[in-house]
Amino acid sequence: MNTEDLLKYDREHIWHPYTSTVDPLPVYAVKSANGVCIELEDGRRLIDGMSSWWCAVHGYNHPVLNTAIENQLKNMSHIMFGGFTHRPAVELANKLLNIAPKGLDKIFFCDSGSVAVEVAMKMALQYWSAKGHKEKKHFVSITKGYHGDTWNAMSVCDPVGGMHGLFNGRLPVQYFIPRPECRFGESCREEDIRPFRECIEQHHNDIAAVILEPIVQGAGGMWFYSADFLVQMRQLCDEYGILLICDEIATGFGRTGKLWAVDHAGITPDVMCIGKAITGGYMSFAATMATEAVATTICSSSPFVFMHGPTFMGNPLACAVANASVDLLLSYDLEKMVGAIESQLNKELLPAASLEQVADVRVLGAIGVLEMKEAVDMAVLQAKFVEEGIWVRPFGKLVYIMPPYIIKESELTQLTKGLLKIVKEI
Ligand code: PMP
Repeated sequence: MNTEDLLKYDREHIWHPYTSTVDPLPVYAVKSANGVCIELEDGRRLIDGMSSWWCAVHGYNHPVLNTAIENQLKNMSHIMFGGFTHRPAVELANKLLNIAPKGLDKIFFCDSGSVAVEVAMKMALQYWSAKGHKEKKHFVSITKGYHGDTWNAMSVCDPVGGMHGLFNGRLPVQYFIPRPECRFGESCREEDIRPFRECIEQHHNDIAAVILEPIVQGAGGMWFYSADFLVQMRQLCDEYGILLICDEIATGFGRTGKLWAVDHAGITPDVMCIGKAITGGYMSFAATMATEAVATTICSSSPFVFMHGPTFMGNPLACAVANASVDLLLSYDLEKMVGAIESQLNKELLPAASLEQVADVRVLGAIGVLEMKEAVDMAVLQAKFVEEGIWVRPFGKLVYIMPPYIIKESELTQLTKGLLKIVKEI
């Protein structure tokens, strides 16, 4: 099939994320990807600014990750996790629990970020059921959050920007408090935490858990908020008997400058979801970790088990590549590496704050965000970025980059230069 036919078939038959089959957005055919370079079928080369949605932290086609998969493939690519265990899963569990926030002691491997969130929410419900509090069945979340596209995950996504309107009356109803306006680096003022305190004072009897993305809200708005807010939230959850679920699916594995975003606050959640960069972006895989107390409570009362068990749970190929990816991450001076990207993003993106079209510029770790005053035309902008030789996929008012950590200084400059050039043309 030549590239034209390939794109034609795609346009006529294949759904892409959040797109129409009747009037699809343009897509670009990729031939290969290496390091931070994405090569299109037509020979054009793009510098990757997206890490394939937060995942490919080591870049593409990494020899160490390739070898891990190739070696595992010769043993077994998959084996059911019911009744079996295997070295890659046990090694990965050990590795992750050793580096996880202190207190997280049990791990559930699953298929994707959304499933990890479903699992976390089920854990919270089973926990309270086991304690004889079936009435604790609702969740609290903050506006502008995003936790995935499956059913319960959708119910805790932003009620306006998410899909609540579309599935109105059918999604479970949860409590929402406004996102904290105190920025990262600022302290949390009384008015920032008050809505949460008031919500749980009033409703703690029917609330199972609060779920949020720590420090960085990703797909719901690329917003960076105060670590102090998390500290206060942790205290209030303990005071009122509410579990704290932190969704580190996007923020985990160093993206915010620390290994976990909760490390900025020095807190341990009761349940934590991880995904995306867990396999270095090689395949869909995720996990939900819980404290000993949560796990033991769930399993101390009928049905005495945690009720979830996906077919591809603990997939050996995914575990093997995740083991290699975590080893690689730990071999870097991660804070220094991400810190260097942060400094460069600050230097090269902050000047855009003076542009008329730009409402705000913010940088944290290896994330750089330009918030525009008006929503941008994604398809038009994306085509211009491709012409510039960079891969950036904006949404709404947000034009942002989160490159692989291994990006070179000159490549990052090419990325930020191209980005600013196109933004100035808007
Ligand atoms: N939680 C967060 C914070 C996410 O950013 C995402 C994905 N963007 C998810 C959950 C869902 O993950 P997945 O797409 O792997 O289901």
